[in-house]
Amino acid sequence: MVFEGLSTRLQETFRKLRGKGKLTEEDVNLAMREVRLALLEADVNYKVVKDFVARVKERAVGQEVLKSLTPGQQVVKIVYEELTQLMGGDQTKLNLAAKPPTVVMMVGLQGTGKTTTCAKLARSLLAQGRRPLLVAADIYRPAAIKQLQVLGEKCNCPVFSMGQENPVNIARAALEYARSNGRDIVILDTAGRLHINEELMNELKDLKSSLNPHEILLVVDAMTGQDAVNVASSFNEQLGLTGVVLTKLDGDTRGGAALSVKAVAGCPIKFAGVGEKLEDLEPFYPNRMASRILG
Ligand code: GDP
Repeated sequence: MVFEGLSTRLQETFRKLRGKGKLTEEDVNLAMREVRLALLEADVNYKVVKDFVARVKERAVGQEVLKSLTPGQQVVKIVYEELTQLMGGDQTKLNLAAKPPTVVMMVGLQGTGKTTTCAKLARSLLAQGRRPLLVAADIYRPAAIKQLQVLGEKCNCPVFSMGQENPVNIARAALEYARSNGRDIVILDTAGRLHINEELMNELKDLKSSLNPHEILLVVDAMTGQDAVNVASSFNEQLGLTGVVLTKLDGDTRGGAALSVKAVAGCPIKFAGVGEKLEDLEPFYPNRMASRILG
């Protein structure tokens, strides 16, 4: 389970604090030292850890006293609030067009789960009564088109494809198709690469400028930790993202990417992939994640 190690470590640290009637600055410092180590071990970005601990310490030492809580409980409450903020604060919803169709560009490197996530999102939108259209714009990996068709069939979502045509042409034709067939959300499965390169970015920039998408979601694999965070930073700088989908959270025990993406790359995590099945996509709730960490 994600945050397994971090959760155990923090719960141990706070058990010691919770019972205390009075906290000295030394108690807080000691606890914060443990929090710092636990976050570093969870593969959270070094600078993020430093800022986080400084913020908690500042609030904990100059504590606003709440009568109903012991000082130890108050520190836990501050950590909970700061963890929630760190992961983006409020849950961020999909940005829908005032006038449909909404255009969602799904981008990301190969193997992160981009194609699967397109289908998962379509499935979840269908369940909410929307009429998505999946678009196969990953033209370099012929298997990707087939894969999207198979997944579309599984979740009962139509899939628009034009083979190896130029992605901008495919996307334009797909939009036309959506308009004339009453599909209200167009989800584009764009081409990935093994690594970020200029060709990939140029292609995505072309798509962005000709489509004006409402969402550009980057799919990153939580199990790759800080690599995922660095990829998110680059994509956000070069392309501008509206959000991140963090996949394979089910296989990530540390949680470093979940805790660092917002602070480092500057864009919110909107969804989390928690398994291989199409129903394994969840909206990302920072407060629930923080509760999970603190147990
Ligand atoms: P793409 O190359 O980015 O389009 O990646 P795919 O969609 O083909 O996914 C690559 C692999 O990751 C597949 O085996 C998926 O089943 C798997 N996958 C995708 N999302 C998740 C997830 O949230 N959890 C797990 N465990 N596996 C996932």
